[in-house]
Amino acid sequence: MTATKNLLLMPGDGIGPEVMAQARRVLDWLQENKRASFNIEEELVGGASIDVHGVPLTDAALAKAKAADAVLFGAVGGPKWDNVPFNIRPEVGILKLRGEMQLFANLRPAKVFDALADASSLKPELVRGLDIMIVREATGGIYFGEPRGIETLPDGTQRGINTEVYTTHEIQRVGRVAFELARKREGRVCSVEKGNVMESGLLWRQVIAKLQAEEYPDVKLSNMYADNCAMQLARNPKQFDVIVTSNLFGDLLSDLAAMLTGSLGLLPSATLGAKDAAGHIPSLYEPIHGSAPDIAGMGKANPLAQVLSLAMMLRYSFDMGADADAVEAAVERVLAKAGRTPDIAAPGRAVISTAEMGDALIAELSRVS
Ligand code: NAD
Repeated sequence: MTATKNLLLMPGDGIGPEVMAQARRVLDWLQENKRASFNIEEELVGGASIDVHGVPLTDAALAKAKAADAVLFGAVGGPKWDNVPFNIRPEVGILKLRGEMQLFANLRPAKVFDALADASSLKPELVRGLDIMIVREATGGIYFGEPRGIETLPDGTQRGINTEVYTTHEIQRVGRVAFELARKREGRVCSVEKGNVMESGLLWRQVIAKLQAEEYPDVKLSNMYADNCAMQLARNPKQFDVIVTSNLFGDLLSDLAAMLTGSLGLLPSATLGAKDAAGHIPSLYEPIHGSAPDIAGMGKANPLAQVLSLAMMLRYSFDMGADADAVEAAVERVLAKAGRTPDIAAPGRAVISTAEMGDALIAELSRVS
């Protein structure tokens, strides 16, 4: 067993605490079975933090997140906080964490579990076995570039401005994340931009090519324009291994890829920062879904996206690949055999609660290990 890991859990609002409770059972199982040792702390975030502290993220919670080996995050938001001032709304909690921890690489896997191939919007044969990873640059590009704003022109009409801007350094650091990931997967990276019409895209292509030649000659690199990539994702998604792209294109393409998998309740994600001098990589793992206020407190939430976020944490922050495999295999078996939460209900399969899905998962975890 490796050294004790310092873990911060931030369940948040709505179904966040419900799905986090099931992830916590997996952490307990790993400890009870002597596969890992965790020092686990918990902090409020989002609306839950507003209710107690008046802000969605306290300085103390932020400091703990920065100091932790990894943060496992649930979800924030809900109608209860619709009328709080814009600058302290629940979502500011997660935005501030991403910004302050400088989490520049957003990892969004799109993996289709065999038992759910029929739930995809594409034909089952196109998505069965699909396993791709989209690496989206998350702190630069057009969402942050200057100048930005809405200005009034002399004739009284207005002009909205946003600026796509990337530096060599920003492209290199997200490129390295993609190449490193590819080394742990099938060894292929597809870099996506629009260098045919955007100078920032041209620079992106050149920097990625140089990086591959100098540091990752063992990884196969291809390039694709973003519009073609969208078409290829819908036409033949299995051609990809790792896709690396900008903030804007990654936003769109990762949502498209997510839908190929069929269910929001099954999609994990990670955001990673830069390695510091001590070798520590700030990292935050969270499901793609939000706080689902419409089903909060009803025991209907699917906990698997949260559990799969935990599996990503084991693999990428703690190098516990075998344990991540075990958790993912248990999820696969639950989907194949057990009852299902309402979001992925299927004919002939019992509808079960969040906690019952957790029970099934723990039972399978003991079988696959
Ligand atoms: P949502 O993802 O919360 O819900 C969309 C739909 O999917 C709902 O019908 C919901 O019931 C269902 N759903 C989501 N997760 C599910 C799960 N695990 N199991 C079963 N069904 C699930 O998105 P929304 O309704 O647009 O947003 C609700 C709140 O969440 C808003 O306040 C929004 O700002 C917030 N939000 C937060 C995050 C985050 O914390 N990172 C992300 C997205 C949305």
